[in-house]
Amino acid sequence: MFSDKCRQSYINELNGIKQQGIFKQERFIHAPQGAEIEVEFPAGASTKKVINMCANNYLGLSSHPEVVKAAHEGLDVRGYGMSSVRFICGTQDIHRQLENKLTEFLGTEDTLLFPSCMDANAGVFEAVLTDQDVMIADRLVHASIVDGMRLCKAAQDTYKHSDMEHLEAKLQEHQDKRNRMIITDGVFSMDGDLAKLDKIVELAEKYDAMVFVDESHASGFIGKTGRGTHEHCGVLGHIDIITTTLGKALGGASGGCVSGRRELVELCRQRARPYLFSNTVAPVIVYGALKVMDLISKTTERRDKLEQNTIYWRKLLKDAGFDIKEGESPIVPVMLYNAKLAQDIATDLYAEGIYAIGFFFPVVPKGQARIRTQLSAAHEKHHLDKAIEAFTKVGKKYNVLGKGKKEIIEMYGM
Ligand SMILES: *Cc1c(COP(=O)(O)O)cnc(C)c1O
Repeated sequence: MFSDKCRQSYINELNGIKQQGIFKQERFIHAPQGAEIEVEFPAGASTKKVINMCANNYLGLSSHPEVVKAAHEGLDVRGYGMSSVRFICGTQDIHRQLENKLTEFLGTEDTLLFPSCMDANAGVFEAVLTDQDVMIADRLVHASIVDGMRLCKAAQDTYKHSDMEHLEAKLQEHQDKRNRMIITDGVFSMDGDLAKLDKIVELAEKYDAMVFVDESHASGFIGKTGRGTHEHCGVLGHIDIITTTLGKALGGASGGCVSGRRELVELCRQRARPYLFSNTVAPVIVYGALKVMDLISKTTERRDKLEQNTIYWRKLLKDAGFDIKEGESPIVPVMLYNAKLAQDIATDLYAEGIYAIGFFFPVVPKGQARIRTQLSAAHEKHHLDKAIEAFTKVGKKYNVLGKGKKEIIEMYGM
């Protein structure tokens, strides 16, 4: 039973989260996902039309008319649900079709769909590694990878973020293991930086290790034809396992996959628990995702537009005097260092009609608070021009324009 004492213990726990200033509140969006959305925040307030600078809608496909139309068709011809996990009676031919499309697009040997990329990461390591193996992960990998590694009996080790010398030392140290797996994100979500996959593949060849890359923030738009970080780094076909999501650039609904070496994917089909014990994506999503694959295989127009938007936005921010993390991905962090400052600026931006979120500890390291902006192919130039006007106005108010890390910390502390 849920006694008063029991309830009070949870009330105390929630109050603790509030006191730490990390209590999260949902913002209700009264519109389809897009460049401009109607947002209700705080809960109960009247809605406000804002420019969305914080979605993972990189290719602007979340509400694309052709994707929506395809999803409707999927609903009509294949029904709403499967009422089964894949290996009992939850697999339609269209699931296999989508897997084949993903295999072709990612340049791998086979693919297995999962309910989400979180589930793909939760299942994959345990399915393919044993206690005789070792996982060597970049220290900034996504939380879902950390969780997946916890479920796996293989030895665990880490290397300093993108530090290839450190990775090499770790590979040398673990030569006695049966198999070694290097584990990294393709694009790191907080800084928007890319893994050095060319170097990683080189080390993997030298020290006989497999390479695992989570491409959630890359699939569909990084690389000349949008295949991902492996394309960008010139190592297409050299990655042993790719996991990625359908929940970001590839339509943004839900679903994920493990794609890679035939035998590894087959082992996931035999053993990965989220695949065996949870329904996969519904037919309506498969139809939408097939259309997405179609659209992005035919033309690079949307990823090219995203690239142009990214270049334009990075230049606008720099010219205005903001301190941004350099790079080429559409994740553009505006560095503010101080948590309260990041929150205050995000609040003021919202008042100006710009929706962007402040990130601070524990999501990023202490003293690294920022506003993470994200570009989309759905943004038009006028959206970005309006956004920079607001950023500039608010930046002036807080006197952060033209200021670097040292000066901002002097003014506001860490
Ligand atoms: C978003 C994300 C995930 C989770 O994807 P879902 O399909 O929403 O579960 C996994 N890994 C990385 C790197 C991500 O950015």
